[in-house]
Amino acid sequence: MKSDPKELKGIVKIVTDELLKYLESSKKGEGKVLVQEDPERLADALNLAGLIRDGSIDNSNVREFIRIYLRNTQHMHHPHYIGHQVAVPHLASGIADMIHGFVNNPMAIYEMGPAAAVMEKVVVNWMLDKIGWFKAEHLHESRDEKIGGGGVLTHGGSLANLTAMLSARVSISPESWTSGLQEDLYVLVPETSHYSLARSVSIMGLGAEKIIPLAVNKLDQVIPEKVHSTLEAMENQNKKVMAVVANACATGTGLYDALDEVGDICNNFAVWYHIDGAHGAGALLSEKHKHLMKGAEKADSMIWDAHKMLRSSALSAGVLYRDHKNLDATFRQKGSYIFFEKEQLGYDFMYNTVECTKAALGSKLFWALAAEGEAGIGQYIDEQYEKTREFFAFINDQDDFECPYEPQSNILCFRYSGASDSDDFQLKLRNELVNAGDFYITTTLMNSKRHLRLTVMNPDTNLESIGKLLKAIREVARSIG
Ligand SMILES: *Cc1c(COP(=O)(O)O)cnc(C)c1O
Repeated sequence: MKSDPKELKGIVKIVTDELLKYLESSKKGEGKVLVQEDPERLADALNLAGLIRDGSIDNSNVREFIRIYLRNTQHMHHPHYIGHQVAVPHLASGIADMIHGFVNNPMAIYEMGPAAAVMEKVVVNWMLDKIGWFKAEHLHESRDEKIGGGGVLTHGGSLANLTAMLSARVSISPESWTSGLQEDLYVLVPETSHYSLARSVSIMGLGAEKIIPLAVNKLDQVIPEKVHSTLEAMENQNKKVMAVVANACATGTGLYDALDEVGDICNNFAVWYHIDGAHGAGALLSEKHKHLMKGAEKADSMIWDAHKMLRSSALSAGVLYRDHKNLDATFRQKGSYIFFEKEQLGYDFMYNTVECTKAALGSKLFWALAAEGEAGIGQYIDEQYEKTREFFAFINDQDDFECPYEPQSNILCFRYSGASDSDDFQLKLRNELVNAGDFYITTTLMNSKRHLRLTVMNPDTNLESIGKLLKAIREVARSIG
């Protein structure tokens, strides 16, 4: 392919034809969800080394190439994809990726992509508005920075959590940026929180020992009274608490912590309150479910992944602040080629991110919203949450299955109890099921017990899919005895 416009046009057509066929047949539930070839055989089938050597992908071989590639994908659009929390992306979000791939505007400085930068600003303002942190009149106003909340999009929730933790550190220990940590700082984190928080604490040099696990109930949710007593004990021992974290919702179970109560406690102790809403902040868009996010506005920072419940392709994650000043104070870097005083239009996100070059992350969410409207995305979240409760009732009704709790979100844990009760058996069930390729599900430990786990991301997954899943699990159970 030698950048001849006519040939390129042909290739774009072939690729989009094949993608649309893939989408249609996946949505109909045709074929396997996942086939895992031996990696070396797969590399051969795709002729990866040969194509690198010869630069010979062109009109004549691209169709076969893309077909093999697509056959070897995780088929997210297949209704039997009920696995991880990654969005089944809206087609519109894919269009955003295509545009970005063509124009490649790393818009962390305004002059490197004004349209993409303004898109990020508007979707960040939209997120802030949903939390109640946006104080300007119109979503396109950048004036809000002076008076209300602030935020930025990062390449994923893990980086967003790290950014929020950095802000918390600067807030309690402003000198740490320059002098390094001169004192011990503690972070109170639910035992069930995402591992990226523990990682952030270690990356920042606090040391993993400075994580104080917050006690959780049988459903792995934070117990607010324990937050209070822990903070009191820390105060009595003159130990400085950098942040308290709550889940909205927990990755494993999909259950929300009592955000409102924990918020009141943190505000009373004047300690930084961070909500990890990577998966579940989308409930803010649902009339029926936004009560789960009650009290979210009491946080100092929150993260919210668009590539989970907002139909956006990976990655696009908001790190959001009640007070923009806390974000503005976080990074204090100098770089003469990029950070200089200038009379300029627009805004540079670069001052507020770990990243230097950054993709047009706002465009992924913008296109999904522009296609569905915020009500449409809200309805999607509503339906996924409602459906999951229906699946719960159905599974719980079976003699040989048990669900430990009624789900609050679109994450559902259950066990097959028709044979061995051991954790190993649940794991084996899952492995055999996934190897067969007709379903993709995950597992998690809950209350220290291994459970099978569904994340109902796909709009096309229905009760019939779940009926078939249970049947397949029973068959696998029989075959492994
Ligand atoms: C997925 C998730 C993360 C990590 O987000 P990535 O975008 O995968 O880096 C953090 N916290 C919670 C609660 C999550 O569910």
